[in-house]
This record gives sequence, structure tokens and C-alpha cells, in this order.
Amino acid sequence: MSQSLKILFLSAEVAPFAKTGGLGDIGGSLPKALKAMGHDVRVVMPAYQNIESGYPGVEPMPVRLDVPTNFGDIPTGVFEGQLPDSDVPIYFIAEWHLFNRPQLYGYWDDPYRFAFFSRAALELAVALDWRPDVVHAHDWHTAPAITWLATAGQAHPFLNNIPTVFTIHNLAHQGKVSWDVFDYLGIQTHSLHEEAFGEVNFMARGIFHATLVNTVSPTYAREITTPDGGAGLDGLLRHRQHDLYGILNGLDDSWNPATDKRLVVNYDVEAMDGRLQNRRILQEKANLPQRDDIPLVAMITRLDWQKGLDITGHVIHQLMNGFAGEAQFVLLGTGEAHYEQMFAHLAAYHRGKMTAFLDYNAGFAPTIYAGSDMFLMPSLFEPCGLGQMIAMRYGSVPVVRATGGLADTVQDGLTGYVFTDYSAEAFGEALQRAIYFFNTDKEAWRAIQRRGMTADFSWGRSALGYQELYEWAVARGAG
Ligand code: ADP
Repeated sequence: MSQSLKILFLSAEVAPFAKTGGLGDIGGSLPKALKAMGHDVRVVMPAYQNIESGYPGVEPMPVRLDVPTNFGDIPTGVFEGQLPDSDVPIYFIAEWHLFNRPQLYGYWDDPYRFAFFSRAALELAVALDWRPDVVHAHDWHTAPAITWLATAGQAHPFLNNIPTVFTIHNLAHQGKVSWDVFDYLGIQTHSLHEEAFGEVNFMARGIFHATLVNTVSPTYAREITTPDGGAGLDGLLRHRQHDLYGILNGLDDSWNPATDKRLVVNYDVEAMDGRLQNRRILQEKANLPQRDDIPLVAMITRLDWQKGLDITGHVIHQLMNGFAGEAQFVLLGTGEAHYEQMFAHLAAYHRGKMTAFLDYNAGFAPTIYAGSDMFLMPSLFEPCGLGQMIAMRYGSVPVVRATGGLADTVQDGLTGYVFTDYSAEAFGEALQRAIYFFNTDKEAWRAIQRRGMTADFSWGRSALGYQELYEWAVARGAG
């Protein structure tokens, strides 16, 4: 085995404590895989309201951090616990005013909240007298830690010269804020070409200052170096392209239809009868007729423009109107109001054929993966995407657009159906193809399901990729 490393792992989301999407899944699963490889990994996240109000197994720590800011030192508490079914320590930075709020994000002071969090997480390492070999930060929220380490932190007796890895989960959210945030953090530095006058861009800073940078699929790693996919940062990413890697996310073992406790009926690839029962449960919950003979199409997603919803409305309308024969459709999703209205409207129009659950329901999602025949992900862009991998594991065949991690995980005609153009026509055509096979060739369909269910999306290989990045970062040293 390679050398055991001390890894400080910073994330705004760590499932099951806090999750709005894939970032939370990765925060909850990658550290466990690293621990299993023998590394001393410690996770830090904010103490959101659910932690402050009492979370089983999470206890206050007898430590007080004095986090330096330009308002003076801010005293801060810390909770500690462990990632479920593991001995990976997780610490929660408890600054009541900043994090004890109903939502994770969406506040005017988000950049300050996460700048504070990032700085406090480093202070925690000092308090624990635990000097990490590498700091691994995720997305813009924790990029301030990387910026601080690369600038003001160089003068710190304990925290200087620590190499960093920065993982981009979604380039669309960059954390732009006024330059004052650097006064707040005690950082003096120059402006980046990507930053407007007087503005800090934390995503750009993470990319600029990290020892090594990666994103969550090889295809997305390439796409973000182009003007189309770079969200304004492609120049900077091209500048760092020799330090930029793509490592596919993995799924942890909790996503397994044979053991998933959230399913009423478990099943596996050898005994698929359970799928039929899940389908009936899903139809009952969705108030749809108990039909076994027609395809049941599903979608579980944040209702966000990146998810391809602008080309979805038309296709669902056609699907419900029978453009590929009879079909049922179920959506589970929440997000932007106009997309919620679109699905509510479609569901009212096509009553009895489709249902839109406009909420977030982690307990119900597995039944949809397990009870549906097809799973749609027509994303405009998709850094990695977990939905398609979960769907495959549960035997729901993905219909996806060839972008980012979707292109890296779904093989057209082998494990799913893939289209390229971002258009309702191309999407509709791929869905028609899927339904055609479903209706006419049960054997071929079963083979597609079987390949998807047995494909290896475990963390093993990806965690090795991260281990390699850490080793390179350590060999390179900070900077
Ligand atoms: P993203 O991170 O962009 O949201 P991913 O496909 O990487 O997309 O991850 C989505 C994760 O969030 C999956 O685990 C999916 O099941 C879950 N999810 C998304 N929306 C909902 C919802 N409304 N209810 C329950 N789970 C959801």
C-alpha cells in the first residue's frame, strides 16, 4: 500500500447530514473509500440547523475556535460525529448566526458564510494539532481555504506549505462577491483576469491557487476548457490544463437494490421480480393505473436549467400523447418555479398518465429508480451525474444526452440510449428508440438492464484516482 496520508476534506454538503445534490453524495462516500485505503481522512462541514437542533450521534466538542477575521476573532463551537457505518471523523463548524438557518444556501451573505467556514476549518486543524498532508476542497464554497493557504497562510507557522487539491463539481456556481471578503479573511493579493473590478470569484481562485485541480468526469474536464463549457473560466482552465484531471464519481454501497432499506421490496439482477412489485408500489403512490405492459418513464432531478428541462416539456407532452405508444411518466423534483409550473401543468393535462412530485424526497427516490423502466437525463451540461448510474444499478435504463459524465457512463444501445444535439427532436428520437426496444424485444431490453446493473460504478477505481492526485500534490509541494 502506498503511504498513509492525512487528508483534510472540506465540503458544504456531506450526505446524510446535508445534501442538495451530487456534491453531498460525494462528501459522504469518497472519504469512506479513502479511509478504507488506509488514509487518515477527516471531514469538515458547517453545522446547519439540523445539526444545531440535535442529530443522533453528533456531539459538541470540548473545543473553542477563535477564528481570525477583520472583525476580530470570532469564537466558534464545533460538533463531532462519524460518517455512518464508518470511523471517519466529521466535524461541524458551529457558528449559529451563519449556519443555523432553514436552507443550506440562497442567502445574500453566502460568500461570507463559506469564507468563514473555510477559514474556521483550517483553524480546527490547528486546534486538533493535526497538520494535514493535503487539503482537499470542493466547489466554490470551500475554495477560500485554498486561497487563504496559498496567500496569507504562507506566513502561518502551522499551516504554511500545505498542498491542495480542488475539485470542481459544478462550474456554473462560482461564488462571486465584493473584494471586501479578502479584508474579512485577512488576504492581500492581486486580482485575476477573470475577476471584474472589485470582485472576487472563489471558483476561479480555487482553480488558480490549488496545487492540482480535478473535476468529476474526463469528458467534463475537457468540456470546461472550451468557451462553450467554460462558464467564463475556460481561459484559466486552459492555463492549468496540465494540472487538470477528470475522475469519475463513484456510487457507495447504500445504492444497492438488494439491500436498500428504503425499498419495500429488494431484488437483484438474478431475481428481478422485485422490480415488478416496486413498479406497482410506485404506480399506486403516483396514482397511476397498475399497468405492467407499458413503459414507465421517470425523472428525478433538481429543477435547474442545466438539467435540460427546456427540451423536456415538449418531449413529455409528446410521450403522453402517445408518440411512442402508451406510456406513463413520473417526476420527482423541486427547484425553479417555472419548471415546477411546467410539470404541474403537464400533470394536470395528462392526468392518469403522469404524476409530478414537486418536492425533495430521498426516502421515495429509490422506489422510482426501482419501479421505472427508463430514466431521463437530457442535461445541457452534467459534470458527472449520479442519477444515471443509480438508475442503471436499479435496472432503469437511462436515456441521456452525451455530455460530461453522462457521455462517460452510458453506452448507446449497450447500457442506455444516448443523443447528442441539445434539441427536443434528438431527445424525443432517443426516447422513441428506447421505447421501441422495450416494446418489441424483451430479450434485448433485459440484456441492457443486466449490463447496467452489473457495471462497476463503485468508488474503488475513482478513490485510487484521488489517492494518486494527493500523492502528486504532496510530491509537488504547495503552490
Ligand atoms: P446534481 O448533483 O447536479 O443534482 P446528480 O445526478 O449528480 O445531480 O445527483 C443527484 C442526486 O440527488 C441523486 O442522488 C438523486 O437521486 C438526488 N435527487 C435529486 N433530486 C431529488 C429529489 N427531488 N428528491 C430526492 N432525491 C433527489
